[in-house]
Amino acid sequence: MSGPILEVRGVEQRFGPFRALGPVDLVLHRGERLGIIGPNGSGKTTLINCISGTLRPQEGRVLFDGVDVTDVPPHRRARMGLSRSFQIPKPFTGMTVLENLLVPIDQISPSADAEDRAIAVLESVGLQRRAAHEAGDLSQLELRKLELARALVVEPKVLVADEAMAGLSEGEIDDVLAILTRLSGTGIAVIMIEHIMHAVMRFSTRIVCFETGRTIADAAPDVIAADPLVQKVYFGE
Ligand code: ADP
Repeated sequence: MSGPILEVRGVEQRFGPFRALGPVDLVLHRGERLGIIGPNGSGKTTLINCISGTLRPQEGRVLFDGVDVTDVPPHRRARMGLSRSFQIPKPFTGMTVLENLLVPIDQISPSADAEDRAIAVLESVGLQRRAAHEAGDLSQLELRKLELARALVVEPKVLVADEAMAGLSEGEIDDVLAILTRLSGTGIAVIMIEHIMHAVMRFSTRIVCFETGRTIADAAPDVIAADPLVQKVYFGE
């Protein structure tokens, strides 16, 4: 199917009388690498909650692969190919790395070849050698990779990576960026929400900047970096 993989149309989210988000319009194309930036409290998490289905916006629609998913719960969106990795990994610590992937596969798309699929995903994030290890023994970087792997087992068309690199060293950031870039090369569109500016700038083909719940810029990274409005709200210059 052609056309955008994801469309956010006029989405608004209020908490009581406070409008945290919107109205927001956003289009994500297939295989695109979209960075989302903005100061704390600017609405980034609220937007991705509306996209992944954790929140149901009061106004507007979310379309995934041409289908209106506004009223579709998160697990069904995941099954359709809209997947999200979380900022704070919460693996099942009493289980092995491999078992951590078999659980979401079983919940979302059980199949006879579940173990083969899980191992293929571990290979794609470079964790195959840790398959039989307890998830509780993993390093911070390995936990981030496991979190990405858990989001990838559904073979997503869109991966929302929520601060996948927070707290990592520069070398580890390079490692995660290489994984995400490789994934995007396989046709997965990636939305990166990230505070590590140089990582978003390097990774993204396009960046959207938020401020007080609205998009204030939507452009290529070099254009965003030079945008006076972005510099003012984001960098305080
Ligand atoms: P960001 O991810 O950019 O830091 P958020 O989307 O978390 O921003 O928050 C946007 C605004 O909405 C903030 O002012 C925040 O305090 C508010 N907000 C977020 N979630 C809730 C909630 N559940 N109840 C009330 N206000 C909220």
